[in-house]
Amino acid sequence: MTTTEQRSILPAGMIPVEEARARILQHFAPLPAQAVPLLEAVGQVLAVDVVATLSIPPLANTSMDGYAVRAADTQGATYGSPRTLQVVGWLPAGAVYEGSVGPGQAVRIMTGAPIPAGADAVVPFEETDEQEHDTTQGRATKTPLAGDTAPHETVRIDVEAKPRANIREAGEDVRDGEVVLRAGTVIRPAHIGVIASLGLDRVTVHRRPRVAILSTGDELLRPGEPLAPGKIYDSNAYSLAAAVADCGGVPRILEVARDTVEALTARIHEALADADMLITSAGVSRGDFDVVKEVLAREGNVGFWTVNMRPGKPLAFGTFEVGGHVVPHLGLPGNPASALMTFELFGRAAIYAMLGNPDGWQRPVVRARAAQRIASGDGRRFYARATVTYEDGGYVARFAGSQSSGVLTTTASANALAICPEHAVVDAGDECDVILLDETLAALSAAERRAV
Ligand code: AMP
Ligand code: MG
Repeated sequence: MTTTEQRSILPAGMIPVEEARARILQHFAPLPAQAVPLLEAVGQVLAVDVVATLSIPPLANTSMDGYAVRAADTQGATYGSPRTLQVVGWLPAGAVYEGSVGPGQAVRIMTGAPIPAGADAVVPFEETDEQEHDTTQGRATKTPLAGDTAPHETVRIDVEAKPRANIREAGEDVRDGEVVLRAGTVIRPAHIGVIASLGLDRVTVHRRPRVAILSTGDELLRPGEPLAPGKIYDSNAYSLAAAVADCGGVPRILEVARDTVEALTARIHEALADADMLITSAGVSRGDFDVVKEVLAREGNVGFWTVNMRPGKPLAFGTFEVGGHVVPHLGLPGNPASALMTFELFGRAAIYAMLGNPDGWQRPVVRARAAQRIASGDGRRFYARATVTYEDGGYVARFAGSQSSGVLTTTASANALAICPEHAVVDAGDECDVILLDETLAALSAAERRAV
């Protein structure tokens, strides 16, 4: 079904999830590039290519503890007919052998040490008489220096070495001048290692979005405050801030805005000072105290939408302009489960877009068998909080508990969202799309990431 067809069957003013998301995403682009210390960049996106200014390894070196030799000197060596070479030096990793290995000579060499001039192979200790020498004293009591003589003067070579045996060639991993990582790469720990191996202590990434989070409502108290009659604790600011941080954004929780024009106006201006995005919760439903809508509409260019989904139908979206700087505003419903669900479907996508990873918000989606009937009852698309298990080679989805938009605990116990499409019913035993919130579940079968 195309979006246009879908729209035509919807009540006036009701827009599909996909259309709401597409309209929102028009207002988001990758944030400017910024050089940050390496460890801060995990999960961020490279804004420029990383180009090597050195080769790795810089010099050919040995992959084994052993003896650097001329391969030709070991020709034909066997346990029955070994060769004996003169040991002319001892080389630890981190040093360079000053001399050159001549015919009939060997240098005792430790893993990672550069291959001395003249040598073209390394014979590992295991293929020499190394174990027969008592070298413990030499090893334990002093750190050998480049060019030091080995603790014994000759070595017996029991096995022929092929040219280049046990040598890691210069540039085997990275060649000087090569593009090692492309702009657009999402940085994981191994990328951090690669960048460090190039000697770089900073990396240029798209800046993390700063997200101001504003709760509105006279009934709200902050956790830690004593409970008073008629009041509830503000959970949205915290669940949303945590969700923002989980996506890679930097949340800033503002003071609760009371339901007055002055309070809300002041908070919004405070929020916009340094934010890349403003997320509010509550005040967007139909019966709500009107100041919220009034202030949002007056101070910015904010529209109120009815999105064809359950939970979380009311949504506000728009922009504020401060000193030529445009700040998008996502106004989420107040009910705690709806606030998180709408963040999941719209807020995440916006944050990933600013990070420069436009598809990163998509979670693995699988087909699952419904263990019970799933239907919204009013034709809206239903994202049911579900507990998914993997049984007999397939996924099974069960309700995680109450689907009321005011009940937050079942959002916490759900590991998935089971989807019942618009104007449809998923009967017990039917298959439906399921968004896996727990990534480890995705590993059980081939899960595709897509927008649903
Ligand atoms: P509203 O959109 O203001 O009508 O709020 C809808 C419901 O969500 C009401 O029951 C509010 O008390 C509740 N609510 C609003 N904001 C929050 C919040 N920050 N934390 C927890 N519940 C909230
Ligand atoms: Mg309210």
